[in-house]
Amino acid sequence: MNYMHKSIEEIHDALKKGEVTSEELVKESLQNAHEVQDKYNAFVTIIDAAQGGEVNDYLLSGIPYAAKDLYSTSGVLTTGSSNTLRDYVPFFDATAIVNLHKNGAIDIGKTVCDEFGMGAYGNTGHTGSVLNPWDPTRSCRGSSAGSACAVASGVVPYALGTDTGDSIRHPAAYCGIVGYKPTYGMISRFGVLPYASSLDHCGVLTRSVKDAAIVVDAMKGIDPKDMTSWDSSKIHLYESITGNVKDKKLCYIKELCDINNYKNPSEELKKHLKNFHDVLEKIKSLGIIIREESIEKYLLDAISSVYNVIAYSEATSNLSNMTGIVFGPRSEGKTYTEMMKNFRTKNFSPLIKRRFIIGSYVLQKENKERYFINAQKARRLIVNRWNELFAKYDAVILPVGTGPAKYLDMSKNISDESLIPLEEHLQVGNFGGFPSITIPDGFIDELPVGLNITGKCYDDENVLNIAYAIENILGYQNQIAKEVK
Ligand code: GLN
Repeated sequence: MNYMHKSIEEIHDALKKGEVTSEELVKESLQNAHEVQDKYNAFVTIIDAAQGGEVNDYLLSGIPYAAKDLYSTSGVLTTGSSNTLRDYVPFFDATAIVNLHKNGAIDIGKTVCDEFGMGAYGNTGHTGSVLNPWDPTRSCRGSSAGSACAVASGVVPYALGTDTGDSIRHPAAYCGIVGYKPTYGMISRFGVLPYASSLDHCGVLTRSVKDAAIVVDAMKGIDPKDMTSWDSSKIHLYESITGNVKDKKLCYIKELCDINNYKNPSEELKKHLKNFHDVLEKIKSLGIIIREESIEKYLLDAISSVYNVIAYSEATSNLSNMTGIVFGPRSEGKTYTEMMKNFRTKNFSPLIKRRFIIGSYVLQKENKERYFINAQKARRLIVNRWNELFAKYDAVILPVGTGPAKYLDMSKNISDESLIPLEEHLQVGNFGGFPSITIPDGFIDELPVGLNITGKCYDDENVLNIAYAIENILGYQNQIAKEVK
């Protein structure tokens, strides 16, 4: 019996009834982790010493999970998938981990991500690329690649992720699972290695909407150690899932979803958008009202550049403490500056270094107004525009990306500038701190694709409830990946 393939409610039931023990679950999960590691490289660390725990009324008690390697874990290697931290063992847990452990959750491993969360393919981590369990020639997408892989391949029912631009929600789509980032600050980021603080969110990858609700209920909470966290004690995600969505209103954005807006659409894109529109028809049968809305093209075109300017600037500042002096293995050098220079030059991957150069450039005094401040203004305009939609609708529903998982061999992927807004619109969820969830919505050439639902801040219960009702009618919950290629 593979209990790790079941939902959290089912596993909890089995534990309560004594059909299985927590110890047995941990064993099963560790064994699955090693098998998946050999095939797809999802883990930086598998915690072989993990032990079963007490089972009580908390739904997560005694059940294994995995955490992205950006979450600090006391006594367990935490690398951020970076050579700069390849030997770093924190002496404390991130608050989200502390909260999960209060619920009796059991960490069995740390998953590979893109270096410090930067990347789109799960291929910049210092231990190598993560392969997609549906087709190992393809990417799981970044940056929470290992977490998506571990959940999709049935190692654990849930794994923690972080999301600065889409890093939970896009890998979820590529792996046929659910990815949820709640409203900004609902989960404390204390102890999570930062990328871009005004955009960084904690969240979770699961195989169903209910499981996502259960886990975030346990992770969330105000934390004096993170001044952006807020009191969400009146929000009960799991309990508020009813599936009653009659007369809820959703909109999608014409400019992103109409195939006629793309000059030379690939077959894949045609199928992806057709599937999306077919799915909208099914959703209407739930009594949900769906309308088409238009967004100014200049705003959609600005999303990705605004993101890059803000994210790279904040990353440059946040990661300036990675010098090898306080953390990580020291580099040689006659002076401090030389030691730091050698350390950063040798240990950061090329992608990160490029981003630091851009970040430093736009933050220079003479460039700041033109790039950084302008990007902040554009961010505000985009967020205001989305808030106008939320005044009329419960949520915005959109396809995730331009199709199924891309190839790890980049030369095989089609890149076309006109696709950028469709590829990157999830970044708006980070600009506004909006609650946002991706669920699987079908298959293209046997590979999973997803749709995303994003709502207004603090409206997580509504967003999850809508996602739950849609998940039920589509029927792709609790999928386990099987290699199809
Ligand atoms: N691909 C985006 C980036 O590289 C998203 C990363 C993220 O959400 N952590 O910045």
